[in-house]
Amino acid sequence: MKKYDPVNEEVLAALRKAVGPDYVKNDPETLERYKTDEEPDPRYHHRPEVVVAPATAAEVAAVMKIANRYNVPVTPRGAGTSVSCGAIPVYGGIVLLIERMNKILELNSSAMYMRVEAGCRTIDIQKAANEAGLLYAGDPCSAESCLIGGNLATNAGGNKAVRYGVTRNQVYSVEVVTPTGEITELGYRLKKCSTGYCLDQLVIGSEGTLGIITAATLKLLPLCPYRLDLLAVFTDVSKAVALVPLLIKAGLNPTSVEFMDNGFVRAASDYSETRLPHYEDGSYVIVTVETYSEEELDMKTEKLSELCEEAGATDVLEADERVWRVRRNCLEGSKALSKVSTSDDLVVPVDKIADCLDHLMEVAKGFDFRCMCLAHAGDGNLHFNILKMDLDDEQWEQQLAAFHKIAYAYVYSIGGRLSGEHGIGAKKTAYMDEYTDPVELAIMRSIKRALDPNLILNPGKLFTM
Ligand SMILES: Cc1cc2nc3c(=O)[nH]c(=O)nc-3n(C[C@H](O)[C@H](O)[C@H](O)COP(=O)(O)OP(=O)(O)OC[C@H]3O[C@@H](n4cnc5c(N)ncnc54)[C@H](O)[C@@H]3O)c2cc1C
Repeated sequence: MKKYDPVNEEVLAALRKAVGPDYVKNDPETLERYKTDEEPDPRYHHRPEVVVAPATAAEVAAVMKIANRYNVPVTPRGAGTSVSCGAIPVYGGIVLLIERMNKILELNSSAMYMRVEAGCRTIDIQKAANEAGLLYAGDPCSAESCLIGGNLATNAGGNKAVRYGVTRNQVYSVEVVTPTGEITELGYRLKKCSTGYCLDQLVIGSEGTLGIITAATLKLLPLCPYRLDLLAVFTDVSKAVALVPLLIKAGLNPTSVEFMDNGFVRAASDYSETRLPHYEDGSYVIVTVETYSEEELDMKTEKLSELCEEAGATDVLEADERVWRVRRNCLEGSKALSKVSTSDDLVVPVDKIADCLDHLMEVAKGFDFRCMCLAHAGDGNLHFNILKMDLDDEQWEQQLAAFHKIAYAYVYSIGGRLSGEHGIGAKKTAYMDEYTDPVELAIMRSIKRALDPNLILNPGKLFTM
């Protein structure tokens, strides 16, 4: 295990010179604040030794050079909405904030792209695109708070991924500061390219282990003028998820296919102080369809209603903004039920989603924690939120480990993986080591060592070294 040196006065002086004394903080309140992200369990918390907030890629590069010179680890941090402990400084050292780099540098509506700094909030990017009559299609449920650099680093998914793909599909290129402190642009504003390794895509989704993203050129799309949001309520959970592959196969090209089991319907409705239909017994499938013509929308609406009825929906309603608010509040709603909880982010082939949900909910019944399921169902991405409730620490750890052992082995056996969008972070490194093919893991470790020979950037994330 690599050992790091402490952040001493010499390091602090070098950092102050690099980014300005106002942007280097090591008072106890600041350090306490950055010991966690969205992680409520104190066992995962680690205080940094200093927090720096550079304003340019050149300043980020200077920080990386200092960190390499003094053997101090660096954890990049966007908005800290990670639910896998991604922004927690596992080995202390420097937390590097991206938030001051928050400008939209260019929006070119005729060539349909946008150049942004990595600290822009995702919602501001979405709004700027909309104001220009265009769409930025990345849309994690945390869009109001997370930053685009964090989305790129985690390859965030979200509500529109069924139709438009995940964050990596929305990008032409990224400006990156390497772990050793060089600045480079990876990727090109080209529709296609067969000129060397695809390094932009290697850094995107690397959870800040292979480089710090400081800016990006994002793709924009035409906005669809017609839209339908539909809520299909089911009293039988299996029937609800069985609808998903049918929707995809029918060629409706939905923008969103979201699933909430009744546990989440209740928790998120209570949190949102909103009572929706079938609060007591309903599981929800929310489907969005967008089209370029009214006729196409009418045709798809009819087909969609037919499919929902055939699949055994108890009720089919238009999903208004209240339904989406409840959907967005799922995580907060579940947190209100239990101070400590954990969110699994399993991904399976879309045609296996119903089997996976049925099987794992049945397995969960054998334990004393509470388990609720939410899914970006159209992507095969299941979030099992497991709530500690009144279990003591020992019972919680034992039961969670036992559940994960069964669940992960099962998911891998049907072709799934540990994370569909939240990433491995610091929380699932042991499982990543255990379940990843040894050759694949060795390739990942070689890449990490080649780019970050001193293991300075975001250590303790993704897999062990
Ligand atoms: C209520 C809620 C809803 C959510 N919904 C979704 C969802 O629908 N889909 C989804 O995918 N996720 C979701 N998430 C998880 C989280 O919002 C995403 O992972 C998001 O992309 C993180 O962005 P952030 O700016 O908060 O990054 P952080 O949490 O600060 O960082 C995340 C990781 O990226 C690294 N990082 C951050 N910025 C950079 C950078 N500029 N360069 C290199 N590395 C960097 C960090 O070191 C860390 O490893 C949700 C979280 C919450 C709390």
